[in-house]
Parts: sequence; C-alpha cells; structure tokens
Amino acid sequence: MTATLERFRCMACGHEFQEVVQEDEDKERTCPRCRSNSIRKLKKAAEPAE
Ligand SMILES: [Zn+2]
Repeated sequence: MTATLERFRCMACGHEFQEVVQEDEDKERTCPRCRSNSIRKLKKAAEPAE
C-alpha cells in the first residue's frame, strides 16, 4: 500500500493543509481549523494528468 502526502483546501474557510493519504483510501475529511467537510484535494505539481 502506498501512502502519499496530499494537499487539501477547505472551501469554507480557505485553510490549506497536508495529510497523508493511503492509495486506496476514500474517507471523508474535515478541516482542522473549522471542521467543515467541504474539502477539496489540490493537484500536486508533479502529478500526471488523468
Ligand atoms: Zn475550514
């Protein structure tokens, strides 16, 4: 199993944070600042296009 460090942004308060994500993980995330679940995963610079 591969774990990668992904960047996330909270759509509610704009807080950006990083979290380790397992390759096949699909759990719901919450903002560490405001606890909103409106989280968007940011594209990594080196990530190839899908
Ligand atoms: Zn937030």
